[in-house]
Amino acid sequence: MADPTEFQFDLPPDRNGARIPLAEDIHRTAWAAAGGCASLRGAPPEEAIRVIVIHATAGASTAGAVSVMEEGRASFHWIVPGKDETAHGEHVWATCPERLAAWHVRKSCAHPDICAGATNINRLSLGIEIVNRQNGEDPFSNWQLEATAGIIRYAAGKYPNLSHVVSHARLDPSRRTDPGENFPWTEFKRLVLG
Ligand SMILES: [Zn+2]
Repeated sequence: MADPTEFQFDLPPDRNGARIPLAEDIHRTAWAAAGGCASLRGAPPEEAIRVIVIHATAGASTAGAVSVMEEGRASFHWIVPGKDETAHGEHVWATCPERLAAWHVRKSCAHPDICAGATNINRLSLGIEIVNRQNGEDPFSNWQLEATAGIIRYAAGKYPNLSHVVSHARLDPSRRTDPGENFPWTEFKRLVLG
């Protein structure tokens, strides 16, 4: 089994900055809730964003994950729907404006390979949730992998300082295991880097 605390790869620095479109739709409930569960970055997103953090929901639905935002407990920028949901195969949901720092990593968390061990990763990052129970019963679909890779390609074209793609488990190994040992990180890395 793969070890999610090892999940990381870096993006090539020599990108041409070409804008890549993203098949996304705004999730109205999440978008409305984001004002109560996201912070200012303290710098323009084009400067600030250096990291993308990959999460899994440990739940079965987009609605379940969005309810956490409605309760003001956590937030993320996109959610990749699960196989049983109508958006699956169509589009990802945008859940929080990219200019805001979503609340998806604990403030004290850091890793020496990520922005030289910086804390407050939320200010420096974008967060993606993938709907998955994380118990091995619902394998990640090919579309989920491709859609998640598509978000990263989109962001890489938009944010020149974006350089790290990392699991939540790597940043918070004592408390988090997502996206889990069943997430095919090697295949995913290949999809992103082509
Ligand atoms: Zn997470």
